[in-house]
Amino acid sequence: MKYIGAHVSAAGGVDQAPKRAYQIGANAFALFTKNQRQWVAKPLTKKIISDFKANCKRFGFSSEQILPHDSYLINLGAPETEKLEKSRAAFIDEMERCHQLGLTLLNFHPGSHLKKISEDECISLIAESINFAHQAVPDVVAVIENTAGQGTNLGWKFEQLAQIIEQVEDKSRVGICIDTCHTFAAGYDLSSKEACEHTFAEFERIVGSSNLRGMHINDAKSN
Ligand SMILES: [Zn+2]
Repeated sequence: MKYIGAHVSAAGGVDQAPKRAYQIGANAFALFTKNQRQWVAKPLTKKIISDFKANCKRFGFSSEQILPHDSYLINLGAPETEKLEKSRAAFIDEMERCHQLGLTLLNFHPGSHLKKISEDECISLIAESINFAHQAVPDVVAVIENTAGQGTNLGWKFEQLAQIIEQVEDKSRVGICIDTCHTFAAGYDLSSKEACEHTFAEFERIVGSSNLRGMHINDAKSN
């Protein structure tokens, strides 16, 4: 089953998001469960959690139709210990918020090596971060978004995505979200039907479509 929707605002509380998605006719939606530009957020209250769950039910959204996105500040492959630990704690908090809300997917950008460590070292740190998060929080699937490869961001090459998954212990709780804008910017041709077929055949060969948990379909200039 495929679902289509959009990123919706959680202004006024995450419990408002399902209604907004319903109003635009979506049968799926993405959201931030906290301000994406801040490290810490107030814990979700019992009321917000129960209102969110009630609204999901009321407007017909199950957890597989909802793809929350984590904070832009998090770098799960950060070369510096302090930043890495801060990122891991924030990511676990994001995963915990998803779990509290009854959500089972968490979309995130893998991480950046900042030219301080090798790509392989960064990939191992990212995988280790996912493993830690899996140990800390049950059920939630870590959904890695492919990047455009700007700066030192990893995860733009399908091989890098495969390499991260390879090092994650619980393969049932890791997946990929393909962002078409990032894919195209990273050098994968999506400009025609044939080009798309070729690119997705590459994805199938290198990563495997069974790992595909979501897609951001857009042609924006940046994310
Ligand atoms: Zn993203």
